[in-house]
Amino acid sequence: MARFPLRSDLQVMQGYHSVQVDVPIRLNTNEAPFSPPAQWLDEVAQAVHSIEWNRYPDRAATELREGIAQLHGVNANQVFVANGSNEVLQSILLAYSGAGRTVATFAPTYQMHAQIAKVVGANVVEGSRNADFTLNAQEIERVVAESNPAVSFLCSPNNPTGIVEPRANIETLIKVAPGVVVIDEAYAQFSPWSALELINEESPVVVTRTFSKTWSMAAARLGYLVGPSWLVADLEAVVLPYHLDAFKQRAGVLALKYVGDMESRVLDIIAGRNAIESCFAGLQVDTWPSGANFVLFRPQATTGITGKALWQGLLDKGILVRDCSSWEGLANCLRVTIGTSQENEAFISAMKEIMK
Ligand SMILES: *Cc1c(COP(=O)(O)O)cnc(C)c1O
Repeated sequence: MARFPLRSDLQVMQGYHSVQVDVPIRLNTNEAPFSPPAQWLDEVAQAVHSIEWNRYPDRAATELREGIAQLHGVNANQVFVANGSNEVLQSILLAYSGAGRTVATFAPTYQMHAQIAKVVGANVVEGSRNADFTLNAQEIERVVAESNPAVSFLCSPNNPTGIVEPRANIETLIKVAPGVVVIDEAYAQFSPWSALELINEESPVVVTRTFSKTWSMAAARLGYLVGPSWLVADLEAVVLPYHLDAFKQRAGVLALKYVGDMESRVLDIIAGRNAIESCFAGLQVDTWPSGANFVLFRPQATTGITGKALWQGLLDKGILVRDCSSWEGLANCLRVTIGTSQENEAFISAMKEIMK
């Protein structure tokens, strides 16, 4: 039988995938290096027995949304939950962008914003950052004035640079953008400030969060946004019925009982980040200040070591980091996720050996 061709506008696109190779130390996808609390695991195992498996789940995910709302001091009708924050992003883009509308991002940044926008048929405009990956307010104003975006993204701390977006830039975007403003805060707990304080009922501004990083629950695929209640209600128009299964809702509700554990894991990771940053200070690498659980770095040109060679050198020692060297604007750049202290030490000594 003849194959049927993929939609032609999708054929040129490359998916956003990190290589999955089997190595002892995986520091490439910004996951948490720690398991969630053992007691949470026990409670989740118990919950399996109390779920009415023959029934559809609570379509509104009431209890989970109430728990998340309480965590952030907002109302449950200001919380939208989905299968990972990527599904949150996709829902926003389905609802407010699509064919004939424009989506604005500021590269280099999280590639899924542009990728999902293209999949839903929107036109993507990428503003640019300075050589040090900071962003000028004038660039935000220029991109918005020229492209009139229906949806605009900023990621803070930004993946893959780690840079925390200054509040003034986010306020500028909110002031000038004609459409929805999305602040992707997948790494917010590692950073000194959050745009959550800018959320209100009057502005089309949302903050997206995930259980994949700080909550040690990447396998669960759970994410959410906080935004105005009318926007949360709008998203019902695009989301599939019963998209969030009963088990995941339960797992999320139970996770919220362990917010203290999560916060102490965050402190551990910040300590690991400090250790890696001070190691970098003694090596011939360029690096950027990170407010996240990863650090972007690049061998200095004078070393003659390319990013690709450094990536391979680390892999040969059983350490996998993210190779960003082929991404636009990120020549020779690699990104290391903060791991356990043993993993960080292994990374540090491998770096010292390769870079000496
Ligand atoms: C990891 C990451 C996400 C991920 O989300 P899921 O909740 O696992 O879908 C979203 N945004 C950014 C910037 C990320 O780095």
